[in-house]
Amino acid sequence: MFKKVLIANRGEIALRIHRACKEMGIQTVAVHSTADSDAMHVRMADESVCIGPPPGTQSYLSIPNIISACEITGADAVHPGYGFLSENANFSQIIHDHGITFIGPSADHINVMGDKIAAKETMRRLGVPCVPGSEGGVNTVEEAREIAGGMGYPVIVKAAAGGGGRGMKVAASADEIDIAFQSARTEAKAAFGDDVVYIEKYLQLPRHIEVQVFGDGKGNAVHLGERDCSLQRRHQKVFEEAPSPVITAEQRARIGKTCADAVAKIDYIGAGTIEFLYENGEFYFIEMNTRLQVEHPVTEAVYGVDLVQEQIRVAAGLPMSFTQEDLVPSGHAIECRINAEKLPSFRPSPGTISAFHAPGGLGVRVDSAIYAGYRIPPYYDSLIGKLIVQGRTREEALARLSRALSEFVVEGIDTTLPLFDHLLAARDVQTGDYDIHWLEKWLEAEF
Ligand code: ADP
Repeated sequence: MFKKVLIANRGEIALRIHRACKEMGIQTVAVHSTADSDAMHVRMADESVCIGPPPGTQSYLSIPNIISACEITGADAVHPGYGFLSENANFSQIIHDHGITFIGPSADHINVMGDKIAAKETMRRLGVPCVPGSEGGVNTVEEAREIAGGMGYPVIVKAAAGGGGRGMKVAASADEIDIAFQSARTEAKAAFGDDVVYIEKYLQLPRHIEVQVFGDGKGNAVHLGERDCSLQRRHQKVFEEAPSPVITAEQRARIGKTCADAVAKIDYIGAGTIEFLYENGEFYFIEMNTRLQVEHPVTEAVYGVDLVQEQIRVAAGLPMSFTQEDLVPSGHAIECRINAEKLPSFRPSPGTISAFHAPGGLGVRVDSAIYAGYRIPPYYDSLIGKLIVQGRTREEALARLSRALSEFVVEGIDTTLPLFDHLLAARDVQTGDYDIHWLEKWLEAEF
């Protein structure tokens, strides 16, 4: 087992990784920018190293600085968390080349899945159902017109290097394809430095359902069911639950096995998420994330496992601590993402937290790195915490969520906490009857 893990991230996920390490008897190293000297992960870790000024590009994304921190502290493994360098194949490779273990998949797997066109080709070959679309990249507007016309509108033009909901444009009809193609390309170039785009059939009222997979890198893999992440704003998840209110045990077993078999065949190591759109009883693959997801706690709640500890185990060469038969879901879990943002505009609201009280009690988990007196720096993502609740049934989880929200106090800044009280009052949320467009329509009507 590793002696010392360097956590190449910040915020709640850095603390989450620290906690997993401590329970395994592993020392931790926090790295931080000058804006994060007072961050909770820095306070808690056994050691800390400042890796640069506030901008992410000069600190949390600086590979040389992180490698130096590994060498100074003698860390024998690096956990990248999510975001930042977590899906950077070059980083994974450089870490490896320095004789340090990257707690995550191989550079090859990160590379393939990071290119959405290659990912779709790979998944199709491995027997995973995909959204109908162009075969590979689409290079000219003429080609875009021809493919979209052949497939039938509406279509969506997507960046091959896409992520975070950027570089995606919908064309409802032939009148819109030229502009959708051009603007997706421009946005892709600006956001990812790569203007390759592809076209997919635009599904009208799907749900976003993703399957958690886990591999040991030696041809064995399991699935840990699905998460329903349909409640989204600007293609970003806001509220996630497991299991999905619309998936049966039989469907879970079937799609889960398809996904586990697919990643087993490529000797995938560690945690991964295979994302689908789900419409009319059918699953359509859209992308695979080769990292731990923000919403992993809902899966942990329902399956009773620690995914970060499991990542560390397999990275150290140990077998997984469970088999598919051991993984039996129980009850229902829901996560709310709490952002430092002002409603209704969702504009970032950095500043100093004057009072903080986290809810507790049976079935309540708060993953957050904030505290009273903490100053949220303006440089990073606005996620400041996640509230996860668990109940024996979906009804119980919803009641618990409502109760936990009423206990949650964050003062001094604006947060998205009030959104969730409102949301819980909506009938469709109570019944689980929503698709990927539901939240935006509701926000427009209610806020
Ligand atoms: P990103 O990597 O930027 O998150 P994804 O491919 O995962 O992009 O898509 C993000 C979201 O965009 C999906 O959850 C869904 O809401 C929407 N989306 C993507 N592809 C399609 C499609 N073919 N039809 C309808 N909606 C889509």
